[in-house]
Amino acid sequence: MCGIFGIWEHPDAAALTSLGIHALQHRGQAAAGIASFDDAFHLERHASLVGDNFTKPEVIARLSGRRAVGHVRYPTHGSAALERNIQPLFAELSGGGFVVVHNGNLTNAALLRNKLQKEGSIFQSDSDTEVILHLTALSQQEKLVDRLVDALGQVEGAYALVCLSTKKMIGCRDPLGVRPLLLGDLDGSPIITAETCALDIVGAKFVRDIAPGEMVVVTEAGVESIFPFPKVRSRFCIFEYVYFARPDSVVEGRGVYEIRKRIGRELAMRHPAIADVVVPVPDSGVPAAIGYAEAAKLPYELGIIRNHYVGRTFIEPEQSIRDMGVKLKHNVNRSVVAGKRVVLVDDSIVRGTTSLKIVKMLREAGASEVHFRVASPAISNSCFYGVDTPEQEKLMAAQMPEHKMAERIGVDSLGFVSLDGLYRAVGEPWRGSGRKVQFCDACFTGEYPTPLTDRSLLSKELPA
Ligand code: SF4
Repeated sequence: MCGIFGIWEHPDAAALTSLGIHALQHRGQAAAGIASFDDAFHLERHASLVGDNFTKPEVIARLSGRRAVGHVRYPTHGSAALERNIQPLFAELSGGGFVVVHNGNLTNAALLRNKLQKEGSIFQSDSDTEVILHLTALSQQEKLVDRLVDALGQVEGAYALVCLSTKKMIGCRDPLGVRPLLLGDLDGSPIITAETCALDIVGAKFVRDIAPGEMVVVTEAGVESIFPFPKVRSRFCIFEYVYFARPDSVVEGRGVYEIRKRIGRELAMRHPAIADVVVPVPDSGVPAAIGYAEAAKLPYELGIIRNHYVGRTFIEPEQSIRDMGVKLKHNVNRSVVAGKRVVLVDDSIVRGTTSLKIVKMLREAGASEVHFRVASPAISNSCFYGVDTPEQEKLMAAQMPEHKMAERIGVDSLGFVSLDGLYRAVGEPWRGSGRKVQFCDACFTGEYPTPLTDRSLLSKELPA
């Protein structure tokens, strides 16, 4: 889950890229980077939020040129601490410099890296994205686009990429289209990015989604589209609609906010509760809670307030201070919940630790009952496509049945949206109605749409 943005031929390319990745900050807070090109490549990468460095005039001034790409990083592969893993990644290929930003995760990167290292490749980072650079460098094809196609033909998993060479900007989505990628336009300057909210911030217009398996090549001659990979049924990540994408984005032609409200309505129908008030866990539970409250004809209240200033760099207080009840991120709005039967709505349960804390806070604030409603099906499998879920052993839903989860979290009732309810909310017929699967829903079903090569090698030695 990262955010990517690229813009071609605009006098304020770096400043606009900074705004674009700022709009995508929800997709990654660990690091941010921008590369630009005039007659040379310029690269700035920082382990911080976009606003910490990329609002500084001297930083933007160093990123000269009319072409730029940017990235916000949420590490799913490669050490979070390693500065060299911060994207954009740059390589000097035969034929010129080449920059890549990647949203997604490759599922055979360890195998490929091992093979490349044995053949003499020297890696600079432990990011899976670097494998794409090496494979491109080693390709025997002549043209850059063909070399990249050659490289991507060897990788498995999920990727949405924006690349910048001395003569081209290239956007590419894996054949399954797991992660979003779209084409925009700002007064004739093409933009390639992950979500429409990144177009809105710079006043660009949406042109179209980049299709699964499509490669869009932007040059001085214009925008060209090619489909270099065999066509397969697409499997867009359904969890983008539940959690990752910003609610004001339109993703794959669907408004995220409306979908989340429809999920809330599905929840209200399937898991009604006799209650006094519907309270979201902010921010991601808000639209589903609104949908639930509307359908259940219950009042909607902000019973939990989120502190938006808990940055990545905030130092967690010591255990002794935490034990005093210090609440960094959420606090209960006591007057809303005291003495009330509360329907609490959140987007998902992963480890269950946050849910447990929030329910405890509600109880301490005097809620008489807590009915927990979850806007996704139970997550019982890890994601290998760019989302930082823990190993399966740490997923609460993989460890115990629903009634035990309710007991552990300390709620009076617990209800998840069903998989068919989620598909209905997204506006697609459910997979169970005789149709082929249209989305990746592997974290709920365990049905992964690609081989998990690296995982199957985990217990074995990599080939000598
Ligand atoms: Fe999305 Fe879940 Fe598939 Fe990962 S496993 S891509 S989070 S649906």
